[in-house]
Amino acid sequence: MMLKTVVIASKNKGKIEEIKNMLSDFPLDLQPLDNYPNAPDIKENGRTFLENALIKARAISDFTGMPVLADDSGLEVDHLAGGPGIFSSRYAGADATDGDNNYKLLMALKNVPAEQRGASFRCVLVLYWPHREYQAFEGNWRGLIGAQYRGGHGFGYDPLFYLPEIGKTVAEITPEEKNKLSHRSQAVHELKKYLQTIYFPEKHAKNGA
Ligand code: IMP
Repeated sequence: MMLKTVVIASKNKGKIEEIKNMLSDFPLDLQPLDNYPNAPDIKENGRTFLENALIKARAISDFTGMPVLADDSGLEVDHLAGGPGIFSSRYAGADATDGDNNYKLLMALKNVPAEQRGASFRCVLVLYWPHREYQAFEGNWRGLIGAQYRGGHGFGYDPLFYLPEIGKTVAEITPEEKNKLSHRSQAVHELKKYLQTIYFPEKHAKNGA
């Protein structure tokens, strides 16, 4: 089967590897954005994860003429009415580090009881076709915001995102465990189900999936 080129609109090596591994069964030639050094810098000024993923996907597809996979993700905290949401990476300011953002979150939830510390990591993944059609896939990972940092793995809010069923934060589980559970892997899983219907329709029908 001829390989279909799809550009992954990300420069994050971890993210690219994760997506490539999960989609290795499909006849796709997945190209990282680094292979297009003149690609435009994109301002993510949407109001939702979907809008931001679409802004990225559209810009990269217009530039490369190729289908594009783009995602946007962040943390939504119940007590903060869904914040920091699309502002997750700059919660504590434009140049905030992960440490700054985590500290601000910890302070914002000071004295908030455990039962009101619910939160979701959310991810929206978009498969965008040059003729301006797209499919969107979502992942939603529930947890609680811990009262202290725990663990050294991962990035971002992982040391504060506590998984009650496992009794650990995301920063305390291995990357392999995270890849099985995360909001991003849930969204990629949904994308895989969609690609199955395109590339392996017989298998899809047989499994009744
Ligand atoms: P982006 O989708 O890579 O732009 O991520 C936006 C921000 O959301 C990151 O900078 C983190 O602050 C937060 N975030 C997204 N996914 C994760 C995760 O898996 N762990 C921890 N923080 C995350």
